[in-house]
Amino acid sequence: MLIGVAEGRVVVGRRPGRSIGRWALGAAFGPRLIRLILGGFWFFALRFGLVHGHPLPASSSHHAGMRAVVLEEQQQPLHEVTLPDPAPANGQLLLRVHTCGVCRTDLHLRDAEIEATKLPVVLGHQIVARTEDNRRVGVPWLGWTDGECRYCRSGRENLCVAARFTGRDIDGGFAELAVADERFCLPLPDELSDEAAAPLLCGGLIGFRALTLTGDASRLGLYGFGSAAHMICQVAVYQGREVFAFTRPGDERTQQFAREFGASWAGGSDDRPPEELDAAIIFASAGELVPQALKILAPAGTVVCAGIHMTDIPSFPYDDLWQERQIRSVANLTRSDGHEFLALAPKVPIRTSVSTYPLEQAEQALADLRAGRFEGSAVIVV
Ligand SMILES: [Zn+2]
Ligand SMILES: [Zn+2]
Repeated sequence: MLIGVAEGRVVVGRRPGRSIGRWALGAAFGPRLIRLILGGFWFFALRFGLVHGHPLPASSSHHAGMRAVVLEEQQQPLHEVTLPDPAPANGQLLLRVHTCGVCRTDLHLRDAEIEATKLPVVLGHQIVARTEDNRRVGVPWLGWTDGECRYCRSGRENLCVAARFTGRDIDGGFAELAVADERFCLPLPDELSDEAAAPLLCGGLIGFRALTLTGDASRLGLYGFGSAAHMICQVAVYQGREVFAFTRPGDERTQQFAREFGASWAGGSDDRPPEELDAAIIFASAGELVPQALKILAPAGTVVCAGIHMTDIPSFPYDDLWQERQIRSVANLTRSDGHEFLALAPKVPIRTSVSTYPLEQAEQALADLRAGRFEGSAVIVV
């Protein structure tokens, strides 16, 4: 499948699914027994206050056995397995996954650069899916909040102290089926195909939050021109900003890609742009980019770090921060970010450059992301 300008990758054929670990029990004894065991566990856990949530329903009309790709252990390859169909709890939707975007956060979880809170886990938090009543929805990274902490009560649910995230705390979309809290599912514009919509749900959406945090900066630097940057570049140009794209030194292919998506200048991260910039967003996970970006900012300029993980930031002279320059991070998203961004996307309109992979090639998609083998976004097509 080819969308936009990047080459598509469709691998046909499928390895047989493997049942392992506790899921092997499902194959051996059947899903009803497993549901009973799990139901018993949930009842016990809820009764004694061990977990928050809803017990699994006593019965379900869904047949067992879906293909999924799971991370069993960090720093180990993802594996295709057969899992019991997930059962939606109260307030959750059962979703048939069509596509799921691949995010650098999936790679950080795979590579143990951020903590895995649940193993095994189904990764993937940019899910485009259909509900049982055939509505198309998007499931983003923010999967659940408590609604009552000081952040939730002040419009900052992205910082909720008890937040649960899709594809980390809740099984995600590298699977045929998923469940998601209906309140956190986002409507998707009809103009976007399943493949084009998926990368908007994290790269686009959290990139948009980062862009908003740059205020009215008219000259904007983007460091790391991958999935998020190629979408946010288009939004910035639509808003009348001028974009300067920074790639790995010598990466002329990505610099050309950046110009195709609207950057007026593209160079290596060690190059000086022709003008001082008002803001820079760093999508790459290399901490040394922070002092480099500060050095090319005009007074009062802002560096926004948009990733969930970054290597340590080296020390730098205070003079580089002086004159009211600032460094800040962006964390997660709110539902209102999601609604605002998805309404804006067709107006720009945002083009996404997508390389597609079948579900069983999810590990390959992560390897290609790590190695920078594609431009734009990778999307799993289920
Ligand atoms: Zn909260
Ligand atoms: Zn993400």
